[in-house]
Amino acid sequence: MTRTEKLLAELIALPSVNPAFAPATGVSARQARFPVSHYGEKNVADFLATVAARAGLEIEFQTVLGVRGHVRAWKSGDMSPHSKLERSNLIARLRPAGNVRRTILLAPHLDTVGAEEAQFVPRLKNGRLHGRGACDTKGSVAAMLTALCELAESKNRPRETEIVFAGLIDEEQAQAGSRALAKSKFKADLAIVGEPTRSQVVTAHKGSFWLQLKTRGKAAHGATPHLGENAIHEMARIVDVLETDYAAQLRRHKHALLGTATVNVGTITGGKQPNIVPDGCTISIDRRTLPGETEGSVRREITALLKSKKLSATIWSTKLAPALALETDDKLPLVREFLRSVGQSRPAGVDYYCDAAVLSAGGIPSVVFGPGDIAQAHTADEWISLVELERGKNRLKKFLQGLP
Ligand SMILES: [Zn+2]
Repeated sequence: MTRTEKLLAELIALPSVNPAFAPATGVSARQARFPVSHYGEKNVADFLATVAARAGLEIEFQTVLGVRGHVRAWKSGDMSPHSKLERSNLIARLRPAGNVRRTILLAPHLDTVGAEEAQFVPRLKNGRLHGRGACDTKGSVAAMLTALCELAESKNRPRETEIVFAGLIDEEQAQAGSRALAKSKFKADLAIVGEPTRSQVVTAHKGSFWLQLKTRGKAAHGATPHLGENAIHEMARIVDVLETDYAAQLRRHKHALLGTATVNVGTITGGKQPNIVPDGCTISIDRRTLPGETEGSVRREITALLKSKKLSATIWSTKLAPALALETDDKLPLVREFLRSVGQSRPAGVDYYCDAAVLSAGGIPSVVFGPGDIAQAHTADEWISLVELERGKNRLKKFLQGLP
């Protein structure tokens, strides 16, 4: 077993489920799927701190969500077990021998989505390591920290480049970890955000807005529908416009790395019973955006389209925090150097949203890079190829080692 594989197996065996995936209100400890200790990033962060300190890295914890912040953030009814969770980013720093002329940030997240108990037992089979977080994104954590530890232990390492590993909390919910880091005084010349990209350098990803639309009608007796206004009928037309005209409108703009923006009508609710004309209907949509699009621009676009069809609805956002698209200039010297080192002729783009957009908006040029394939992320049988895991670690180490 390589050092990276061993570390990844240890990380899978330390559950760090985002508390947002904890059972809802009023679930007793006996009914809950697993113990409270499975939630939060603390166990993983503490373990990684020990590993990093052993290799000579400087350790620091950045408290992101304390008891109060936690309660405010999740507003869950059953806060008794989880409210005690303190959630901190783990920062591990490799200082160069000379003056710091540049800082590289390695930033994977420590939390995972929910899982079945069996997924916390790492299983090795046919060259793959199975378990929750194997590719999203404990694989990146293992590859990045191992690369950094090996550099720390070697004589052949950058003399003027500081390399900082930041294990971030809460990527799977509201990105509280990256938001806190971006807001702090921390600065870097390049952030490499760990997510499964099959060890390709990614400079662009889509953003995601969740919007709700509500139509209002006028209630009336089901025997006299002409006396009312049917909010469901109005919404049915809107759904059709969004799924056909709006989707077609979005397909007309193509981004070189990301393709087109998309829209999906995900839920619909409305009406009380068959013999009442419904006076309200609500849908929620997921709009995946291209760089440059904002929540305001999307809302204006939808409002204008509906107006042109003589339809109307109130629109509001349901996300906890803005999730913008990422677009980093591939001409930046460090990005160019990373691409060259990996042997990639042009950068890649991905559909999914991640911490890179948050750090980038905070002023740190960011790319996404990590072993594994996003196709296996969040699945019931998550796994990573061991060859791929090692390739990710080696590519990263080679790039870092080549820096002055
Ligand atoms: Zn992830």
